[in-house]
This record gives sequence, C-alpha cells and structure tokens, in this order.
Amino acid sequence: MTEQIEHKIQVFNTLTGKKEDFVPLSGKTVKIYACGPTVYDSSHLGHARKEIVWDTVQRYLRFLGYDVIYVRNITDVDDKIINRAKERGIGPDRLAREYTYAFWRDMDALNVASPDFEPRATEFISQMIAFVQDLIKKGHAYESGGDVYFDVASFKDYGKLGKQNLEQLLVGARDQVIAQETLSQLKKSPVDFALWKSAGTEELGWPSPWGHGRPGWHLECSTMVKHILGDTIDIHSGGEDLVFPHHENEIAQSEALHEKPLAKYWLHNGFIQVSSEKMAKSLGNFKTIQDLLEQYSADTIRIFVLQTHYRNPIDFSPESLAAVKAGLSRLIRAANLSPAGEGNGNHSAVSPDGQKVEKQFRADFEQAMNNDFNTAIAISLLYQLSDHILALKDKQVQERHHLSALLREYAAVLGLKLTDRRKVVDTETSEKLVELLLDMRQKAKTNKDFATADTIRKSLTDIGISVMDTPSGANWEAG
Ligand SMILES: [Zn+2]
Repeated sequence: MTEQIEHKIQVFNTLTGKKEDFVPLSGKTVKIYACGPTVYDSSHLGHARKEIVWDTVQRYLRFLGYDVIYVRNITDVDDKIINRAKERGIGPDRLAREYTYAFWRDMDALNVASPDFEPRATEFISQMIAFVQDLIKKGHAYESGGDVYFDVASFKDYGKLGKQNLEQLLVGARDQVIAQETLSQLKKSPVDFALWKSAGTEELGWPSPWGHGRPGWHLECSTMVKHILGDTIDIHSGGEDLVFPHHENEIAQSEALHEKPLAKYWLHNGFIQVSSEKMAKSLGNFKTIQDLLEQYSADTIRIFVLQTHYRNPIDFSPESLAAVKAGLSRLIRAANLSPAGEGNGNHSAVSPDGQKVEKQFRADFEQAMNNDFNTAIAISLLYQLSDHILALKDKQVQERHHLSALLREYAAVLGLKLTDRRKVVDTETSEKLVELLLDMRQKAKTNKDFATADTIRKSLTDIGISVMDTPSGANWEAG
C-alpha cells in the first residue's frame, strides 16, 4: 500500500531544464543520492554550501512527512588522494581516513545531519568490477591495454543532462587528445571515459579481470546507487560542476546497463564565488570550514548559505558573513522567549491575532519551500516572525511563548539551532564562577561578615555544590 502526500512541491530539474511538480516514484518514500566529498584536503565553504543545501532539502521533506532515504558517498580512492598521500609520505588509506574524520567533524559542527547511508568507494570494489563486466557484456564498454572504457557512441542519450551532443563533445575533446597521445591510442573515441584504470603493481589497486587497477570516479556512484537504492531513484543531487562530465557519465553507465532512468529529478546547487571566481582548492581562494567556525557560529554560516536560493551563485566576502550576525541575534532573542523544550500547545491562550500570524506564517513558509526550496524567502519569514515576537507587549506573554516555539520549530527545519549562548555555560566558566563566589565568601569572613559567608555557602549547597573548609582554604565539589 502506498500513501501519497499532498504537497505541491516544484523543483528545477536539470534534466528537463524546467521546474516540475515533484512526485516521488513510490508513495511517500524519497530516495536521494548526493555525491559526497573526495577526502584529500580540508573542506571549504563551497563544500559547506553543498552539504547545507541538501541537508536542508532532506530536513524539509522529512518535516512534510516523507520517508527520506538519503545517501551520500565518500570518495576514498582517487588520483588526488594518491598524490597527496605520496607528498605526505603516508598511505592513501590513512590520508583518506584522516580527511573523512575531518569532514565528519565539520559537518557535525555545521549541524548537517548524518546521511542514512554513507558508503565509501573502497567498500564497493567487487560490485564495481561486476558492473563493468555487465557493461562489457552488453556492448557498452571495452577493455584496452588493461583499462576499460565506456563506449560513448553506444549510448544514444549521451549528453542529455549537460545539453551537449556528441559532435560538440568531439570537437571539444580533440585538442585535449593531441596533448594526451598515448591515452587516445587506448580509446576508440576521445570522448570515451575510463571505468577501470590499470595501475602499477606497487600502486594502490585491486585485482580485476583486466589486471591490477582501480575504478574510475564516475563508476562508484552508479554502483552505490544501484546497490543501496536500486536502479531508479527520486533525486540525484550535487554541485553544478558535477553536471558534466560526472553526472552525464553516471547516467550513461547506469542507463546503458539498466535501460531505466537513473534519477527522476536532477538537482544542482550553485557555487560560492570570490570576486566572481569559483571558490576552489585549485584557485587557492578558499576558506576552510574550520577557519570560518573560529569566527562565525554554525547558524551564521547556514543563514549566509541559505539566504541565497540554492541555484544562484553566492559572492563571498567577510562583510556579507558579518552582516548575517546582526539579524541572527534578533532571531536568537525571539526564539528564546519561551522555556526551552516547551511545545506550542497553549493554543487557547493565543489571541485570534496570534493565531492568524501563526497560520499565515506556516502557509507562507511552506509555500516558499515548496517553490524549489526557496530558503531565501523562508529565512526572511523567520526574520519577520522574530520582529513580530519582539514587538509583542509584556502582557501578551502566552502569545510570545507560543510564537517563540513556532519560530524554533521552523528554524530547525533549516537546521538552525538558535541557541542563546547566555544559557550555555561551559565547565571552565562554571568553575571560575564557583571560585569567584568562594573568594567573595572568604572576603566576607575576613570582614567578619559571617551572615554573607553563610548565605553564599547555603546558596551553593542548594545548587548541589558542597563547600569544605580546610586550613589551606575552601575546597568544593559538585554532586
Ligand atoms: Zn557522484
């Protein structure tokens, strides 16, 4: 039995080049595959954008009641990893592990939820080899000098995602081929791409029917989609730089083999630009997520990313990030006006005006998000709601509590925590506060003000801190 969800979501589908109604393949299940990081270096704001955007999309779909299965892979075998590991004088597996942990730490700090499955390429080597064997059997791939290539001419739909035809691609490829003479001798056509690459016996690789080697990058995603989610999924997402060749080649591999669409909807997010150039490691203009988190909270970074529609480019400057801070402090104040954890159940205490505000807010927020996940409008609605809450009179306390909880509920859909830092005192600060009180108690005793000294001691005992007087001064312990 399948249950449908009635929401008029529209998404921009790169495959068709237009906005379409979002109708999952099967009831309320939504299978999403997002290409994940190649773990050879620290993640930067460009990576953060990609992860924050698709994290927000999956949060919103779950909020509406969809059963989302979200898969994001880790590319842990790649020439970039191998080369970086060589420079560092360590094994590629160790380098990949180091940056996988760093990526997880960054995602956790940005409140990006863990995916439901997070396969690593090296866990799927045998499935990838089987995938290639099946493509060879069907006449879509051929072995050449220990490599295996996908025969692009055998797949008539090649170029449909990136909107290029084979002729145009061949013209584009010709120049590159002259520069790579030996490679062209192995390929039937310059546009054919590697499914499997031979490697020297000393190099990282796995045994295969074609000798020692390793998989081409595109192959891992096709294989992991097949084995974790099935032949056809609802949404395949990634940064717009992946449209060609990566996603085009995923389509060629999977659709040639299965003769079914790989994904119903292809969604791509835009870049972060610095002075209109793409932020990228190769350009040396990137800020790592760690750098940014030293100066800005996760909420600040998420709002900075989400206040632009995901398909548009974002221009990065320190000023534009700093500008988010001011608005965020309003949101935090408004979201912390009701006791934390209190739901918004006191509906009866809310005036008809307040009920109207709530109803309108819910409708507007969902309308914005249903329109190809327009988080830019969703965030401006959060600001409007916070202004409304902060302008309420003191006597409207029930209404303030209610709308404050509403603000928190929807902020969480965008992955915003809106934590009031004044309410979070870390261990180090707590210790300093107790020491400070004990100093004051000591001064009171010195001044023979025993009443104050006793009051301090009793107040500390009341909150579970016992004070022991010793010849060398007061000691304390908690609990
Ligand atoms: Zn991929």
